[in-house]
Amino acid sequence: MSATAVVPGAPRPTWLAPLLPALRHALLRRAFDGGKPPLPRRVFVNRNLRLERIRYVGFDLDWTLAEYDREAIDTAIFELALGFLVEQSGYPAAIRADAEFRPAFPRRGLIVDRQLGTVLKMSRHRYVGRAYLGRTPLTQEERFRLYRLEPLDLGSDRFYRVDTLFELPEVNLFSELVELGRRDPSRIANRSPQALFDDVRHAVDSIHANGSLKARITADLPRYLPRDPELALALVRLALGGRRLFLITNSDFAYTERLCSYLLDGALPGLGSWRDLFDLVVASAGKPSFFRRERPFVPLSADGSEGPEVAVPSWGGVYRGGSRDGLMALLEVPGEQILYVGDHIYSDVLTSKLRTTWRTALIVRELEDELEIAAEVAPELRHLSALREELSDLGHRMDDLRDVVALACESGENGEMLGAAGARLAELEAQHAVLRQRAAELQRRTSERHHRIWGPLFRQGSNQSLFGAQVKDFACIYTSRVGNLARYGTNHYFRVLEDPMTHDLAG
Ligand SMILES: [Mg+2]
Repeated sequence: MSATAVVPGAPRPTWLAPLLPALRHALLRRAFDGGKPPLPRRVFVNRNLRLERIRYVGFDLDWTLAEYDREAIDTAIFELALGFLVEQSGYPAAIRADAEFRPAFPRRGLIVDRQLGTVLKMSRHRYVGRAYLGRTPLTQEERFRLYRLEPLDLGSDRFYRVDTLFELPEVNLFSELVELGRRDPSRIANRSPQALFDDVRHAVDSIHANGSLKARITADLPRYLPRDPELALALVRLALGGRRLFLITNSDFAYTERLCSYLLDGALPGLGSWRDLFDLVVASAGKPSFFRRERPFVPLSADGSEGPEVAVPSWGGVYRGGSRDGLMALLEVPGEQILYVGDHIYSDVLTSKLRTTWRTALIVRELEDELEIAAEVAPELRHLSALREELSDLGHRMDDLRDVVALACESGENGEMLGAAGARLAELEAQHAVLRQRAAELQRRTSERHHRIWGPLFRQGSNQSLFGAQVKDFACIYTSRVGNLARYGTNHYFRVLEDPMTHDLAG
C-alpha cells in the first residue's frame, strides 16, 4: 500500500497554507541536525503501528496536550483539598498545619489499600514489593502477612489505582491523614482509612468540579502550564499529513478553550486559533464511560448556549458528553485507523483498548527522568547483573553440595568425603552471603536513584511493575510528551524492536 494512497483524501485545509514555511523550516533544521530523536524524546513501541494507516488522531487534554508543572499543580491541589476537608467535611482545623506537603512521596502506578490505609507498589504478578502506612514503611514480614496469604482482587473496591499525575497530591494528603491518625486518632476525628480516602477523593473531585482549581490555574497560566514549543509542530505536522484531529477531554469547554488557546494560538507563525487544528472537540466527555455508554452529544455554541442533543456529532462542532458509538458513526472507518493519545492508563488507554480497536499512544511524562537515570546507572546495573550470574553459579554448586551432605548423613557415612564437602559448602555459603549483600546494596542504590521510596516506575525488583506491565500490554506506543511526535514523519512505521521472552535474554 503506498503512502499517498492511504493518506486521507480530504483537501488540505486552507488555514494550513500560511504555516507551511514555518513547518518546512523546522523540518529542514531537524533533517540537518540529523538522526533519531534523543532517547528521552523518543517514541517507544509495544505493538507495530504504521502511521500511514491512521486517518484520525484523537487527543486527551489534561496531562496530554496540557503538561502541567508538577510542583505548582500539586501544591494547588494539596492546599485546596486540605482546605475543603476543614471547611466542608468537618475535619479539625489543625490538619492544615499538621498535614505536610510532600510531593516527592507519591508516584504514578501505586495502589492505595483503602481498607488498611497503606500505599503499595506491586510487580506485574501482584507481589507487593514496597508498602507504606502513613510515613512508615512496612517490613517484609508485615507485607507478607497482609498481602501474601490470599490473592489480591485489584478490581474490588478495596484497592484504588493511582493512574494519573493529577492523583499524586491526593495520595500525599491521604497518607498524611493516615499518619496523623496513627499518632493520635482524635486528630482526624477517629475516621477509618476508608473514610479518610473517600473524604480526600470527594475533596479532590469537588475542587475540580466547583471551579476552584481551574480558577487558580487560569489566573496564572504561565506558572501552571509550561509551553512545549514542539506541541503545535506535532499537531500541525499530523494535520499537514492529512490526518484529522479531534479532542476528547473530561474538562469542560470553557477551561479547554482557555488552556488550548494559551498553549496553541500563535504558537507557530501563521497558526491563528487552536480550533483550526481540531476538526471536532468533545468536552465533559466523562471518560472512561465515554467508551462504554451510549450518551448523546450536546452541541455548544460560541456564546456557551446548548443546542438539541444529537446521537452523531458533525465535523467542526464543539460538544459535551457523547460516546464512542456516536463518534464512530461520524468517523466511518475501522477502529484500527484511529489513534488515541492520552495519559490516563485506565481511562484513555486500557478502556479504549478493551472497548474499541483504536490504536493507543500513552503519554508518560516521567519517562524522560527514568531514561536519564537509567543511562546514569547503566554501569552499576551491568555490575549487578554480573554479580547475579556469579550468585546463580554459586547457588548451583551449593545445591549440589547440600544434597551430597544430606545423602551422606542419611546413609550414615561420616568419612573424609563428607568432611570435605561440608567444609567446601561452608566456604561457598560465606562467599555467597558476601556477594548477596553486595548485590542487595547495589540494587538498593540504583533503585533509589530512580525514586527514593518507590524505585523505578516501570520495574519492581527484577520484574515489570504493575504499571510497567499495563503500559506494555495496552499502549501500542508510548512517549514522554505529545511534542515528541513532531520528530517523526507522518507516515512513520513505529516498529517493535524486540519483545523478548526470558529465555531470549539468557546466555
Ligand atoms: Mg488526561
